Amino acid sequence: MTTLVIGGGWSGLAAAVSLIEQGHSVHLVESAKQFGGRARNVTWQGKMVDNGQHIMIGAYDHMLAMMALIGIDPEHAFNRLPIDISMHNPSYSTLHLSGQSRLPWPWSLAWNLVKSAGINSLKSLVTLQKDIPRLLSEDDMTVLAWLQRANQPERLIEQLWEPLCLATLNTQVAKASAQVLAIVLRDSLGRDEPTADLLIPKIPLGSLFPQAAADYIQQQGGRITKQTRIAEIVVEEGQISGAITTNGDFIDSENIILATGPDQTAQLLTAHLRFPRPSQMPITTVYLQYPDHVRLPKPLLGMTGTMSHWLFDRSLQHPGMIAVVISSDGPHEKLSKEALVAHVCDEIHQLLPDFPAKAEEGFVIREKRATFECTVENHRNRPECATAVPGLWLTGDYIANDFPATLEGAIRNGEHCAQLLLSHLTST
Ligand SMILES: Cc1cc2nc3c(=O)[nH]c(=O)nc-3n(C[C@H](O)[C@H](O)[C@H](O)COP(=O)(O)OP(=O)(O)OC[C@H]3O[C@@H](n4cnc5c(N)ncnc54)[C@H](O)[C@@H]3O)c2cc1C
Repeated sequence: MTTLVIGGGWSGLAAAVSLIEQGHSVHLVESAKQFGGRARNVTWQGKMVDNGQHIMIGAYDHMLAMMALIGIDPEHAFNRLPIDISMHNPSYSTLHLSGQSRLPWPWSLAWNLVKSAGINSLKSLVTLQKDIPRLLSEDDMTVLAWLQRANQPERLIEQLWEPLCLATLNTQVAKASAQVLAIVLRDSLGRDEPTADLLIPKIPLGSLFPQAAADYIQQQGGRITKQTRIAEIVVEEGQISGAITTNGDFIDSENIILATGPDQTAQLLTAHLRFPRPSQMPITTVYLQYPDHVRLPKPLLGMTGTMSHWLFDRSLQHPGMIAVVISSDGPHEKLSKEALVAHVCDEIHQLLPDFPAKAEEGFVIREKRATFECTVENHRNRPECATAVPGLWLTGDYIANDFPATLEGAIRNGEHCAQLLLSHLTST
């Protein structure tokens, strides 16, 4: 019995690898020319860049284990950095976020904030940390409501919590789920130092996991089909019987794992299930090419009070290249690509006067549906992997778990989905 996995993003590939690892037969169908979905490679002027700058953390246990399983060495794949981020704001002095202090969280973070900002951050962070168990035991609320309940000063909200919430949940504090942010804080900063480390990919995203996973599936006897789009899921007598491609071919299967993004999933499920399609949020990445010798003073700089949110030094792969990340929606969406490139170059030049005023070249990638919006409501309504249609299973970053839309969440859900399907098969 072969399971049909529809979608070769990180979640579908993780589900297929997990099934094949347990001796189950798999056929994975992907509509695009390449694997990886929302975390894939694109080519700009002959250079391989990512469709959006991604960052992982040492706490991505399942992602790291899955990569090791298919033969990717994390040492080769990532630049591992202890948290050491400067948060710049045109109106305030710089905040330094560092995990290098020997103190546990939140004191490690507070220590650095006290040193750099001169504000009573220790008391604020301890209050917030102590409130996490209470927050997780009651109804969810927005991040902003939680920060206000925990008496966080305006400046800490603006310069620390807002950017952290946008970076991790891609959702504004006024709408974002406080429970999800609290879990992210607990599971990253709240654990030992290596888990809080930042992992910045050294190799293109497509080679980091997707292509290697597809190769692994094939080596283990699985079947992979690219450039084939599923147009319809077929249910006969209340049970999955297969799927039809846009070419009209029927693929016979009694079990389907639907690993497409929320929009495609909603479309494919219309005739079969009520599906709570979540709202989604964009992420914009601006790649800037400067002369080869140009580098940022640190691998990662945070910016607040500006259109640019994060600057990544990409010179390890491409000398002179900077990636600028702008999370969520905002006024940047109204600018043309040329105007956006000029605007972020100006912001960088104001922050770092020694930097050239203009880049030699700029490239903008707007991923309009980068992640589901991690609001209180969307998080509460996240669908489960098992569905009411026998033989139909769902996976993807948006499926119910404690994570926001991340690669770790996508992989965990893929593994979990495979596990549920196999348990179901052995019990029937
Ligand atoms: C710009 C950007 C930056 C991000 N930054 C980070 C970050 O720093 N850290 C982090 O952890 N996460 C980040 N994310 C989120 C992360 O990329 C996603 O959570 C993850 O890639 C989702 O994977 P998925 O497999 O659930 O879905 P998808 O990647 O959407 O996979 C779905 C797949 O299904 C295929 N498909 C769709 N319809 C069909 C069909 N009808 N037939 C066949 N195939 C079909 C698609 O082509 C796609 O390959 C970012 C995302 C973006 C876009």
